Amino acid sequence: MSVQMHQNVSLRDLNSFGIRAKADHLIYVDTLEKMQEAIAIELAPKMVLGSGSNVLFTKTYRGLILNNQIAGISIVEDKSTYVKVQVGGGVNWHSFVQWAVARDLGGVQNLALIPGTVGAAPIQNIGAYGVEFDSVFVSLEAVDLSTGEVRVFTKRDCAFTYRSSIFKTDRKGQYAVVNITLRLSKHEHVLSLDYGAIQGELEKRKIATPKLADIADVVCCIRQSKLPDPKTIGNAGSFFKNPIIPRSQFAELLVQYPDMVSYPADKRYIKVPAAWLIEHCGWKGYRQGDVGVYEHHALVLVNHGAGSGIAIYNLAKRIQRSVQEVFGIELTPEVNIL
Ligand SMILES: Cc1cc2nc3c(=O)[nH]c(=O)nc-3n(C[C@H](O)[C@H](O)[C@H](O)COP(=O)(O)OP(=O)(O)OC[C@H]3O[C@@H](n4cnc5c(N)ncnc54)[C@H](O)[C@@H]3O)c2cc1C
Repeated sequence: MSVQMHQNVSLRDLNSFGIRAKADHLIYVDTLEKMQEAIAIELAPKMVLGSGSNVLFTKTYRGLILNNQIAGISIVEDKSTYVKVQVGGGVNWHSFVQWAVARDLGGVQNLALIPGTVGAAPIQNIGAYGVEFDSVFVSLEAVDLSTGEVRVFTKRDCAFTYRSSIFKTDRKGQYAVVNITLRLSKHEHVLSLDYGAIQGELEKRKIATPKLADIADVVCCIRQSKLPDPKTIGNAGSFFKNPIIPRSQFAELLVQYPDMVSYPADKRYIKVPAAWLIEHCGWKGYRQGDVGVYEHHALVLVNHGAGSGIAIYNLAKRIQRSVQEVFGIELTPEVNIL
């Protein structure tokens, strides 16, 4: 056997919440063949872990964790206006963004500094600053965790929606993403600058015609000013998704809360920032023991040190209940609770 199994492993450095949970078994996997070899081991359940920046461990993982470290970035098609790039599932997402920006390949610059691995990006269709992962996605290769068979998923197969895909719904926990293929633009880039503070920050820097590197740099600065660094305070970014509610319900809420913030979702629905709802229920900056709500961003639950996964989970439940009671809106976790 070429894979090495570790037993009774601490997951503290393998999750951005810094939760002191353990796993019964763990294997670091850096090739497709090793992934298949590990899958063939008769241990259950099995799960893939990337950088652990979107998981909350509430108990010991009584199974086998496959830590994805599959590397490699290669251009598989080079046309006059675009390239197709295949990227290993274990590559760090931000390193890949830097790789693309350095070659003036457009499409992922707004997604700079999102923590995690490339293989996890399709799972919740990562998004930020007006751009979602599926806008550059072509296909992926994944291994069936029960049979070891390799399967190709097209964009249609993945059923991407806001912070979700088939890998978070119908096929949850069933596949290990080993590589993805993305299409990036050459020369003529479509830039998305309207979201958040990007335009304002570019103006401050007196940049009228931004290059991809300028946009990535601005996004990094804005993110660093808003979000806590998991190395300093344990967190998994946004804990909940922004709820999408019917426009009729929003109109009723506006009567009582005229300053409620919203973004259009489609003709019939409105997206409400979960941070606004949580803040208006009084949770921003809340702390009990070592767990709490980040003082500068109400959507980020934090572990100040020795907080447990179950304490964060219980806090999340209390927040959900109060938002439901006050606004009649259900908050859904974005973070994967284990
Ligand atoms: C400070 C901070 C800011 C963040 N900002 C954003 C943001 O702006 N936008 C955004 O969308 N997300 C954001 N996130 C969440 C996180 O960065 C993404 O969800 C990221 O894709 C998680 O990658 P990971 O490798 O850490 O996944 P993990 O946390 O290891 O895993 C997440 C889930 O995906 C599954 N998974 C992981 N890898 C694979 C694979 N190869 N095959 C199959 N399943 C897999 C796991 O089983 C788990 O269910 C943020 C997180 C933090 C800590």
